[in-house]
Amino acid sequence: MKNNSRRNFLQTMGVATLALPFVPTAYGKEKNVLPDVPYDGPVLRVAIMGLGSYGTRVAEAMRSCKKAKLVGVISGTPSKIEDWQKKYDIPKKNCYNYDNFDKIKNNPDIDAVYIITPNGLHHPQCLRVAKAGKHVISEKPMGLNAKEGQEMVDACKKAGVHLLVGYRMHFEPKTLEIIRMRKAGDFGKVLFFQGLSGFRIGDPTQWRLNKALSGGGAMMDIGIYSVNGARYMIGEEPLWVTAQEVKTDHEKFKAGIDETIMFQFGFPGGATASCLSTYSMNNLDKFFLNGTNGFAEMQPSTGYGPIKAHTNKGELDFPHETHQTFQMEEMSEIILNGKQPIVPVNGEEGVKDLKIIDAIYEAVKTGRKVDLV
Ligand code: NAD
Repeated sequence: MKNNSRRNFLQTMGVATLALPFVPTAYGKEKNVLPDVPYDGPVLRVAIMGLGSYGTRVAEAMRSCKKAKLVGVISGTPSKIEDWQKKYDIPKKNCYNYDNFDKIKNNPDIDAVYIITPNGLHHPQCLRVAKAGKHVISEKPMGLNAKEGQEMVDACKKAGVHLLVGYRMHFEPKTLEIIRMRKAGDFGKVLFFQGLSGFRIGDPTQWRLNKALSGGGAMMDIGIYSVNGARYMIGEEPLWVTAQEVKTDHEKFKAGIDETIMFQFGFPGGATASCLSTYSMNNLDKFFLNGTNGFAEMQPSTGYGPIKAHTNKGELDFPHETHQTFQMEEMSEIILNGKQPIVPVNGEEGVKDLKIIDAIYEAVKTGRKVDLV
């Protein structure tokens, strides 16, 4: 089965429980944010584009959503459309293919399109969805480079629609609790972050190893979690980047497809980050943050969970919630009610990561430190 190793990586801790979403309070205890009562507020009506592995995961997670609903599909495979119609009760009028989805413009029953196709397709598909006047949620990485990302931001702005990036960790309770603790000064002055992100990739013919569709290798796919994590864990934007590449399998990882990259950042407050992105090691998923007074450690830190986290003050033991359920509930609030998330998930946030990734690739190529400001 394709991408099996990735699924295993992301699923390290087994099937998620479908409890109600929780958020941490200032005391580190969980608080139920979606009381188990009927919801009659606005609902974000979503069409998923790309009915692959992750699209399926999002669709299943959305079954538990109250504020977002899967109402449409866009796919190039008629048999998949039929399956999904049956499984999720999707009317024929909300089904599109890659040739005709511009017609979604005339469909008043769809508010947003969630693009879950290979990376190289996000940019052109986003521009078309924006032109059709629908809100866009794009999977990560939002585009192949910062230029594409910025064009997506500009197109959505011009069309007057939201552009969000599928950064599910930005809603994850333990992640948010560590961010709260860092802001409260619990770790003292933050001076170091380590991010390790990797899995062993399988099938050499898959799109993730095809430069045109992936935009690169492990960095674009999984390394982006450490790039993004360094920023939200430290709470600053890096000033500079250095990076080194190691390739052990030139057959599988052809030119332009990175297997392993080590990268380092320097931050304005004096913190440094040391990270690793790889397609050659399984069960590599760890964040570590250290300040003058204490630390936070997460392992796994970005898989599908449950996330495990502890600090020098002890274990964080919030109940697990399916990340994508929580993400779509919150994205509905952002799009329909203008809610401001604690960690942004908008297009601009995605562009920041892509600028850094562009710089990492440049640092690998030149062997030099690359300034980001
Ligand atoms: P996948 O290969 O399982 O699914 C991709 C889908 O796109 C398939 O249904 C495929 O048919 C369709 N597709 C349309 N045009 C295609 C083309 N020209 N070539 C290949 N496939 C084409 O991949 P996936 O794992 O679902 O990843 C899709 C996106 O989701 C990627 O951008 C990936 O980075 C992202 N993703 C995000 C997370 C997360 O946790 N946020 C997890 C996994 C994947």
